[in-house]
Amino acid sequence: MTLNKKKKNNSGQPRMVRQVNLQTVTRQMRRMELFSKIDLARELGISTTTMTKLFAQLEDTKLIERSPVEDTSFGRPKILYQLSPTLQVAAIVIDLQDTIICFSDLQGTIKPENQVKFPTGNNVDDLFSTIEREFKKLKQKLEAPCNVVGVCLPGLIEKETGQCMLNPNLHWLEGMRPAAHISRTLGIPAFVMHEETALSRAQLRTPDASSNYITMDFSAGVGMSVVVNGEHLSGGSGYAGEIGHIIMQPGGRPCGCGNRGCLETLASDRAFYNELQMTPEESLEALATRNPRATKIAGHVLEWQATGIAAAINIFNPDRVFVYSQLADAYPYYIEDMRLAVEKRTISLMYENCRIRTTHEGKQTGALLLTIDHLISTATGNID
Ligand SMILES: [Zn+2]
Repeated sequence: MTLNKKKKNNSGQPRMVRQVNLQTVTRQMRRMELFSKIDLARELGISTTTMTKLFAQLEDTKLIERSPVEDTSFGRPKILYQLSPTLQVAAIVIDLQDTIICFSDLQGTIKPENQVKFPTGNNVDDLFSTIEREFKKLKQKLEAPCNVVGVCLPGLIEKETGQCMLNPNLHWLEGMRPAAHISRTLGIPAFVMHEETALSRAQLRTPDASSNYITMDFSAGVGMSVVVNGEHLSGGSGYAGEIGHIIMQPGGRPCGCGNRGCLETLASDRAFYNELQMTPEESLEALATRNPRATKIAGHVLEWQATGIAAAINIFNPDRVFVYSQLADAYPYYIEDMRLAVEKRTISLMYENCRIRTTHEGKQTGALLLTIDHLISTATGNID
């Protein structure tokens, strides 16, 4: 997902290609419980020599291990491998309302007992001391060997340093380097990722996965992640995708970024709750039970969401758009209404070739998957 376009590996092959191959391999490993070098090489069209080298690296770093099971179906027994069943990764997802710490195996399986959630609050020292305390407690409870922690954040994050440069909804994190801080306090390597990249990564789990897709996040704010030909677009400074801060109504409602009338103030779940002046739970209940006022406000929010989606479709020509929004779940016939609204705003050829759907694969799943990707990349020397 995070690819470096400039650097090359020793073979002269763009690093990006190797990275994509590696992700394909590890994704396939996660799909198959047991796998052999030959079967995996054949399945993915990769040479057995390359696969043997990769297996050696992954076995050395204990990410995969030989399975006690052997495949003897064709005479000579075939050695089968499995992802390490004991190794765990952890992700810390810091969001506007809540922070979640979660552990998973190398399959990215989320279990309720492997996670803890607490309010993010509004004080940097309190947040990081709570993270430290809760992380240590959970790790001890799970007795989890954990080699890496992914830290998932909103806002603009400088890729090289991991520093929060601008955070419209959590200003007090600006100037911080959360991954470096967490790594120091926990004594475990940590790296930072953007929440929209995590959300986008999670969509590769869906049966509807594609190599040209857009993820639209309409939850606390409005964010977007774009994947074109399998490559995540990060932009020159890594800040691409901030569609939520395009001004739609000059002089409109104040936005956390300092401007007024941004798409985020009109199209997010939070905009819906604020306008309705109810809690998220009350708002969603009112919408699901077709309260007239909630329905009317949600209709306006949907129209703004459609404007954002249509702009993205016209610019990037994706074949899938994944919508992440609680309003979408509570809104009766959301997809039908959304399609009509988007159709009015797009070039029809692009609209016809694009499927819009809602998604429940969230930031937490994506953060864990990106952390697993990072662990495997690091182990095989493919650090981006
Ligand atoms: Zn804004």
